[in-house]
Amino acid sequence: MGNKNFGIGVVATAAAAGVVTLAAVVGILFSIARHADLDAEAHERTQVLHGLAGVMREKEAWIARQADWDDALLNLGIAFNPDWARANVGQYFSNLGHFERAYVLDADNRPVYAMNGGKDVALAQFEQARAATEPLVRQIREAEARRSPIAGSAPYRTVLSKPIQASTFGSIDGVPYIITASLVQNDFGRVRARGRAPVLIAGEALNRDFARLMADRFLLKDLHVHAVDNMPDDKGQTSFMLTNGGAPIGRVDWTGHRPGLSLLSRVLPPVISGLILLLALTVSLLLRGRRATRALVASEARARHMAFHDLLTGLPNRAMFNERVAEALDQARRQGARVGVMAIDLDRFKLVNDTYGHGAGDQLILAVAARLNSLCPAGDSVVRVGGDEFVILSRDASAGRLAHLARRIVDRMAEPVDLPFGRVFVGASIGISLVEDPGIDGAEALRQADLAMYRAKEGGRGRFCFFEPDMDTAMKARRQLEADLREALNSDGLTMVYQPQMNGHGRMTGVEALVRWNHPESGPIAPSYFVPIAEEGGLISQLGVYTFRKAFLDSRRWPQLRVAVNVSAVQIRAVDFPDLLADLLKETGADPHQIELEITEGILLADDEQTQETFRRLRAMGFSLALDDFGTGYSSLSYLRRYPVDKIKIDRSFVNNLGVEKEAEAVVGAIVRLAQALNLRVIAEGVETESQLEGLKRAGCTDIQGYLYSKPVDPADISRMLVTVQARPLDAAVSGTALVK
Ligand code: C2E
Ligand code: MG
Ligand code: MG
Repeated sequence: MGNKNFGIGVVATAAAAGVVTLAAVVGILFSIARHADLDAEAHERTQVLHGLAGVMREKEAWIARQADWDDALLNLGIAFNPDWARANVGQYFSNLGHFERAYVLDADNRPVYAMNGGKDVALAQFEQARAATEPLVRQIREAEARRSPIAGSAPYRTVLSKPIQASTFGSIDGVPYIITASLVQNDFGRVRARGRAPVLIAGEALNRDFARLMADRFLLKDLHVHAVDNMPDDKGQTSFMLTNGGAPIGRVDWTGHRPGLSLLSRVLPPVISGLILLLALTVSLLLRGRRATRALVASEARARHMAFHDLLTGLPNRAMFNERVAEALDQARRQGARVGVMAIDLDRFKLVNDTYGHGAGDQLILAVAARLNSLCPAGDSVVRVGGDEFVILSRDASAGRLAHLARRIVDRMAEPVDLPFGRVFVGASIGISLVEDPGIDGAEALRQADLAMYRAKEGGRGRFCFFEPDMDTAMKARRQLEADLREALNSDGLTMVYQPQMNGHGRMTGVEALVRWNHPESGPIAPSYFVPIAEEGGLISQLGVYTFRKAFLDSRRWPQLRVAVNVSAVQIRAVDFPDLLADLLKETGADPHQIELEITEGILLADDEQTQETFRRLRAMGFSLALDDFGTGYSSLSYLRRYPVDKIKIDRSFVNNLGVEKEAEAVVGAIVRLAQALNLRVIAEGVETESQLEGLKRAGCTDIQGYLYSKPVDPADISRMLVTVQARPLDAAVSGTALVK
């Protein structure tokens, strides 16, 4: 919801910003356009005013040619000649000067000639023009009075300096006119006026023709001239025409150029579309950015979750446990509470995983996680710290509460789990650390719980056990032993003994190499004790090299015997194991065909390609493979199917039961038949009594190894036995009791 709101917020903000920008840009453009238009208008108005003034000057110049003329003075003033006036004023002004009106006033300002529209008219019509012309005439008379006397009459010499004229806009009969009055004067002074001279008045109507002329000249559109009493509404550009006295007599109007507006109309659409596009782009970028940020936040959250949670079960993982236990211990320190850490290990998980594959293992883990979750009280956390290792962290624990919880978990885990491939029994062992001293850290609490869990497992699995300080002592002793073993390996402190393997004819056909460690202080330590220590402590490859080298060397002493060497599961999983053996063969000169590698069935080999490949390579190198402790594992048959072995060794536990349990012989018989069916050799180990031997024989097993014939002995003893025992007749050997005790 928050995200959606944010999306809308982003769009709204961007849209608002876009609209404001758009408005600002459009506003600025409008203002620029308006200014351009105002400038253009002012310019046009000046143009029109100057144009009108120009026309006035042109008219004055034109009239001056007729007024400043000796003939005009003679015919209009000295002796008024109506014909002359008609021809040279009326007709001439109308036809060539395009004047609508022309008048001649005598020395007393009385009209003596009048023309309107090209025709002579009654002098009384001058009254229409009197008001408009009176100021002009007055001006001219004043100028005339100021004029210097006309100089003599030197023939063909101009006597006039400049015309005496006055012009104005004026209204005649309601029509606006440009009116010009001009004093009639000499040009060459051939005649001389007495008193005041006549005045010539001409008017050009500012009509449609005039408008067209102005429009053409100044490139103006829709130019009209209106009389002052006939003015339509003010629209477009206007210029008022005023009399010299400042009274309006008409108006010129036209449609002004709007360069700004036309520019705007061209610029605005692309600018607006551009801005809208930009806005859309910004919004889309913002949204995309937001999406990317959201994806990033999500993936960060996912990464964080993954960093602190187990991928398969979704439970907190070890990293999360470390954080939580630190918090819990911190809180416990402050509040005086006690923290409980419970380490839970599944008893037979590896078996399921190896037998049915990882998919099955995963399903089992999921089922177990669900069970733990359902049992775990609120406030406590279930954590998956490793493959089949779980931890429950209790923030406020007591021994009673933890014991109760552990009991329930053990009981619940003892119940079968139904999985798609069938029903499995797992079981769990639990170690509990009730932290009395909150000064310790989470790692230590977990280590204590683990120690207790090992103790629970040692005690027979499916149990729980509280951590006690003596476990630490035991662990410390184990660590010490590890150090001593390392020392023994480095100082050649281990030895090899060999236990004979006999065939049905009492012949020694092979020996099994077994390692021995005589601890300088503790005395002999059993390999079943220190081999796992070597495996855990990372010493196994060193121990392996040690025993292989010795056994390989010794094998050369007995070319007629097969020498069996035990291989640790940890070793066989090392990728370079076959290479290691190849090097040792080269070094010792041993024959691989003489060497049998014993792999314990109980080691629960993982069903992986690599182990199978190692098996294939070892056999290709000439080694033979034997499956040790056969029958003790849970998946003997599937092993035989998956791994190419040459021999199986029936475990001592079956041999022990011979003659004790009735079915024991049948079981051994079944194993023997299985071996025969698969074309494998078979040998029974741990044979101690004659009756066991008899039982084995009845079951079909003739090859045997055990105290009945010999305990593991020094190599020198094997050499000796080869001389003595093999030399004896067969019968004696078969029934021979212990040869070496
Ligand atoms: P394993 O391979 O099953 O060896 C047979 C064990 O049974 C030997 O114990 C042997 O002494 C014992 N044994 C033989 N005959 C009898 C008998 O008649 N009665 C009884 N009660 N025991 C008998 P050991 O030597 O203590 O070895 C125990 C295990 O330690 C071996 O079991 C093997 O898994 C491992 N081991 C021994 N030596 C080596 C070694 O050099 N390398 C590796 N990786 N493991 C070794
Ligand atoms: Mg063995
Ligand atoms: Mg064995």
